[in-house]
Amino acid sequence: MTEGADDCLRFAERLLALLEATRYSATYKLATLLAILELVAEQLDPETGAPSELRGRQVAERVIELYWPQTSPYGAPAGAGPRVLAQSPQNDIPAKLGAWRRLHDLGPGASIEDARAVDEAGWQVLKGELVATVLGMPLAKLQRFGEGRGAIEDRFIYDFAWPDEVKRGTTDRADFDDLLRLRPNVGDWLVRLTPLLRPLIEAKWASRVAERNPDLVDRQRLDDFLFGSSRISLERIRGPLFDAQGALCFYCQTLIHRQPAVDHFLPWSRHPDNTIDNLVVAHASCNGAKSASLAGVRHLQRWLERFRPDSPSAKAVREIAELTDWPRRPDRTLGAARAIYLWLPSGTRMWVEQSTFEPLEAEEVRRLLAA
Ligand SMILES: [Zn+2]
Repeated sequence: MTEGADDCLRFAERLLALLEATRYSATYKLATLLAILELVAEQLDPETGAPSELRGRQVAERVIELYWPQTSPYGAPAGAGPRVLAQSPQNDIPAKLGAWRRLHDLGPGASIEDARAVDEAGWQVLKGELVATVLGMPLAKLQRFGEGRGAIEDRFIYDFAWPDEVKRGTTDRADFDDLLRLRPNVGDWLVRLTPLLRPLIEAKWASRVAERNPDLVDRQRLDDFLFGSSRISLERIRGPLFDAQGALCFYCQTLIHRQPAVDHFLPWSRHPDNTIDNLVVAHASCNGAKSASLAGVRHLQRWLERFRPDSPSAKAVREIAELTDWPRRPDRTLGAARAIYLWLPSGTRMWVEQSTFEPLEAEEVRRLLAA
């Protein structure tokens, strides 16, 4: 084994220890770690690799986004009425987002864009408060092992310049230095480890929520509520996507005669993304056969057309976004695609059709994604 791989494993061990060390705390640290993983992946550059720094505010905003869908009332199967799940002992970030949701009567399908649009000025105030919480609490304290006075800090992921418990008046200032400087190689390692770390973090998160809400009995439903793709109905996007694809299945390129399935091109388990660029329609059978696999190079090439501004499929996606007011974050989606595909070793099994797979050719994928 090479020395680099050893270092990566040592880093992974340290991260696992950190996840263990968060046993009794709120879900903040898990949310923060997941936010960092996502941002590092999305900011990957095909030439220079993973980023060496992140903005603290950006991490905080992603933490808010991760919590947002978890703040619709959850019906406890034990017979209790629906309520916002408790995730910590205090009036925490999800509780405050839940209050915003109630105040503005935002249903379970409302996106974070809807939450902002309903009262732009009020949202900025709330966001400022929540960002300050993330900067002062989980971001500042993430790399601590143990609790209270006995805790030992080891900044093995990133360094930063602000004190913990930093206050809102400080974090709001334009000259506040919110830079997170990643340790050497850490960006690369995080991208590599994400497929393993994401399910682990989600499982820990769900078990933490289950502990805080002991009257909830249905764990399986809870996982799906917190992290599943079914939280937002894709119904509204199905018809417009179907029309834009000329009634053809995205994968096998033949006509769809029955109800099409909306498929996540980048599998949900690797990159939870309900924005329009990641959605295609397909035969239910093609969708089922692909499942959580990564689509092969022919499909990837066709999908990447969406990110070429002058292409017909880019135009179609733009039009659907305008027509349906569906969220779009093409830079983020494309960044995630790079992080997933560029890190795969040659020979990885890629889905082609039905039960056919092909080995990945790293050079070809590199060429496609560099363009
Ligand atoms: Zn098909």
